[in-house]
Amino acid sequence: MRVSLEDFEASCLQCQRCDLAQERKTVVVSRGNPSARLMVIGEAPGADEDAQGRPFVGRSGRLLDACLAEVGLDQADDTYICNLIKCRPPGNRRPTPAELMACRPWLDRQILEVDPEILFILGATATASLLQCRTPISRLRGQWTEWEGRSVMPSFHPSYLLRNPSRDPGKPRSLFMADLTHVKRALNGVVSGLSPDSSDP
Ligand code: URA
Repeated sequence: MRVSLEDFEASCLQCQRCDLAQERKTVVVSRGNPSARLMVIGEAPGADEDAQGRPFVGRSGRLLDACLAEVGLDQADDTYICNLIKCRPPGNRRPTPAELMACRPWLDRQILEVDPEILFILGATATASLLQCRTPISRLRGQWTEWEGRSVMPSFHPSYLLRNPSRDPGKPRSLFMADLTHVKRALNGVVSGLSPDSSDP
């Protein structure tokens, strides 16, 4: 791993910037490949992640990995996975604005260090916070957006897919797979700036 990324992780693991530091077991920084062209950003660690110190290792994570594999992406090689905030909010509540603000410099630095071409953002909270916009996720998902020179694809959070497991066309699971397919195609250099709902060339 690059020295600057190692430094980043070491500092992040010591973080005391907000009250979540008092209740956490671990700081959950990342898993996957720090040289990946694709960064996947979730919301916050849950209980499993807090216990293991790695993001998306519970039910949502298993579903995420299965969806990545379905489009031919290996979670360990092809992605770098992290969260908007690095410590578990008690009871898995939504992060407060103060927690989001306190943690944001870590994510900004993480993005600069890993330098991914594409950000795949999971869920309304992570999308609204990263893009600083209030547009509902149902309208933002599936649309390529540019942020700080990077291509961003917002989509649903895997926990939403667990609550809505139907694979029928038009349902969240199939929309998520459409979004992920377009990410895969962009990584392959096939698509750039096309909405997944557009017809392909
Ligand atoms: N949900 C998230 O947003 N992140 C995790 O790491 C686990 C569940």
